[in-house]
Amino acid sequence: MKDNNCIFCKIANGEIPSRTLYEDEKYRVILDLGPATRGHALVLPKDHFANIYEIPAEWAAGAIEIGQQMALRMRERLHTDGANLIQNNGEAAGQTVPHFHLHVIPRYRNDGQHMLWRPGSMTDAELDEVLEALT
Ligand code: AMP
Ligand code: ZN
Repeated sequence: MKDNNCIFCKIANGEIPSRTLYEDEKYRVILDLGPATRGHALVLPKDHFANIYEIPAEWAAGAIEIGQQMALRMRERLHTDGANLIQNNGEAAGQTVPHFHLHVIPRYRNDGQHMLWRPGSMTDAELDEVLEALT
């Protein structure tokens, strides 16, 4: 199902042109217009799912499979040193476009990007409380 008001639905289904790296009947991979690094790509399902909470597991798994293929292609053709596969869900997590997308961000030694978090700290009691909540 598409959402007529969704820009990524339009891009994924070819109604808005994009720089497409890969396409099949269910997904399109495009170059991000505001790339974090050279080669930054987005894996877009052609059906509309807002985020990880709404996407069926098999669609999410398919996006990861394609993300892996793209990371391998980038390593071979762009000579990357690593890759971050990142997927944001909800405004609090930095999601700006509410259509599920997987970022494939190639990394280069000394590329100056910062995509990792600042490590925090928790007491044993706090960790145990989280463990109890999640098990
Ligand atoms: P997020 O913050 O995870 O929702 O990521 C949205 C990403 O989409 C950002 O990296 C934007 O640079 C990218 N973006 C937004 N609009 C477009 C567009 N029309 N074509 C390609 N990339 C886009
Ligand atoms: Zn959409």
